[in-house]
Amino acid sequence: MRLMLLGAPGVGKGSQATLIAKALSVPHISTGDIFRYHIANSTDLGIKAKQYIEKGSLVPDELTVEIVGDRLKQDDCKNGFILDGFPRTIQQAVFLDEILKDLNIQLDEILNITLDDRSIVNRLSGRRICPQCNFVYHIEDKPPKYDGVCDKCNTAIIQRDDDKEETIIKRLEVYHKQTVPLFEYYSDTVKLVNVESNKLFEVTTKLVFNALRLENVTLNG
Ligand code: AMP
Repeated sequence: MRLMLLGAPGVGKGSQATLIAKALSVPHISTGDIFRYHIANSTDLGIKAKQYIEKGSLVPDELTVEIVGDRLKQDDCKNGFILDGFPRTIQQAVFLDEILKDLNIQLDEILNITLDDRSIVNRLSGRRICPQCNFVYHIEDKPPKYDGVCDKCNTAIIQRDDDKEETIIKRLEVYHKQTVPLFEYYSDTVKLVNVESNKLFEVTTKLVFNALRLENVTLNG
């Protein structure tokens, strides 16, 4: 399956994408994760991207589109992929159309995960992540078994710099201004499905799997 996930920051795209990717054995391509990897390794791209991410702005299209173009051309994307966090602007969507055309492939589905802004601020300000394996926690709703330590790999979990409240508000503004126009862009496609993520994570996962007609695919681990 070639799937695009849309939705504001904090709706749970990344966590749902991880499960879908695992269930379907296809790569999960998250531009946010790619940037965080480059920042952690102080690459040229990481150094450039950091200044935008810290402020809650989007990384400029010219830095973003190339990494996605290169990634989609890799062999492991031949049987499908989950795009998470890309595109975020009309220009990126136009670029994606060009890459898909070059590769002679089409998206099978676009899944939009929705949540109201107030719940997003609550969710993101309590979010903690493992910098090692990217597993996501929430201080109230989904704390790790042992305080402050990742269940999966024992690394100390952290708050992302861009999950501070004033940055979250900026990220939401950016989302409404720059990413929401994508719904108009994709409006003539029958592939767009919406799932609301205002319930427990597991409930949303079930809705997501049903919406993608993956009810019979096993969720391991
Ligand atoms: P995410 O983990 O998807 O919320 O992304 C974290 C941050 O990375 C965003 O707030 C942006 O600054 C940057 N970013 C991720 N994906 C993109 C993209 N497609 N275009 C521009 N910036 C992006």
